[in-house]
Amino acid sequence: MSAIAAEQRLIRPHGGHLVSRIDERPDGVEQLERLTLTSREVSDLDMLATGALSPLEGFMNSDDYERVVDEMRLASDLPWALPVCLAVDAAPQGDRVALSDESGRLLAALDVEEVYAYDKQREAELCFRTHDEEHPGVARLYAQKPLYLAGRVTAFDRVPPAFPELAKDPAETRATFAERGWKRVVGFQTRNPIHRAHEYLTKGALETVDGLLIHPLVGETKSDDVPAATRVECYRILVENYYPADRVVVSAFPAAMRYAGPREAIWHAICRKNYGCSHFIVGRDHAGVGSYYGTYDAQLIFDDFEAHELDIEPMFFEHAFWCKVCGQMATPKTCPHGGDDHVFLSGTKVRELLANGELPPVEFSRPEVAKVLIDAYR
Ligand SMILES: [Zn+2]
Repeated sequence: MSAIAAEQRLIRPHGGHLVSRIDERPDGVEQLERLTLTSREVSDLDMLATGALSPLEGFMNSDDYERVVDEMRLASDLPWALPVCLAVDAAPQGDRVALSDESGRLLAALDVEEVYAYDKQREAELCFRTHDEEHPGVARLYAQKPLYLAGRVTAFDRVPPAFPELAKDPAETRATFAERGWKRVVGFQTRNPIHRAHEYLTKGALETVDGLLIHPLVGETKSDDVPAATRVECYRILVENYYPADRVVVSAFPAAMRYAGPREAIWHAICRKNYGCSHFIVGRDHAGVGSYYGTYDAQLIFDDFEAHELDIEPMFFEHAFWCKVCGQMATPKTCPHGGDDHVFLSGTKVRELLANGELPPVEFSRPEVAKVLIDAYR
């Protein structure tokens, strides 16, 4: 099969075609008014440029923004769960501005389409389901500049990825899947080290499709999450020891965490569709934080759309555990035994063991992974 034919077997990007907004550095860009982006906005810019946010070609205008906040749809009617906006203090003078990161590195030009006011409390209540300033996503929103600047971006430079060996743009993951002859690919989002429970559900999903994309989020997260370098080492060692190499791709997902729970689950699924995934694993409390969201909210929200609208198929999973009676990994869906028969450790308990240099039970964590974590805690 030709490379093009192989790629055509993959799921189509959201909206039909993969956006690319990467181009040559335009003349005179140094003379333009310069806006400094936060690290979250830099992540969004990069994802706009590579097509990870297809069909978006730039930061959202007010028509898209209002409909997304109210109805989880773009003005075109296409499902879209979260705003992708650039916050500014004032309207720029000219019709084109340069965008830089906090170090002053020039990354892109933006053609100004619109500058508009927005209601932070309304965005918080509808997108995060709370206006509590303790919520990290709400806190970030409330700290933002007061106006949104909309317009198409043209990126001509990129911040070097933190993990170059894991950096793959949507066009590259698609090419990789096609090369391997995969058609049905399941994406797994994670921001934590993978223990046996996640290994079990990723393998359960892989049993029904051609390939697995382990797609850890390495963008900005809360500071108490496990450092990205440690997590990446855990994925590497787990895949090397326990997964068939020709069925798995590990690549970094460059998004910043928004902690928007259910809406973020939809957003994550749409992004993974752009990377070429036909299926997406949604666990309990996906992208949640604290106790702001119900355990199954991130699964239930998929019912707000007709299946064909999202196209990518969500795969819902329960928490998994080792059952001593079943003698295998299981979930409440597949094991009839009680909690006393299950090997289950709370996150706090696991951290306590690791911090003391003790390995958790092998039924909970692969020792190779636990060793990486113990070294990191020291
Ligand atoms: Zn059992």
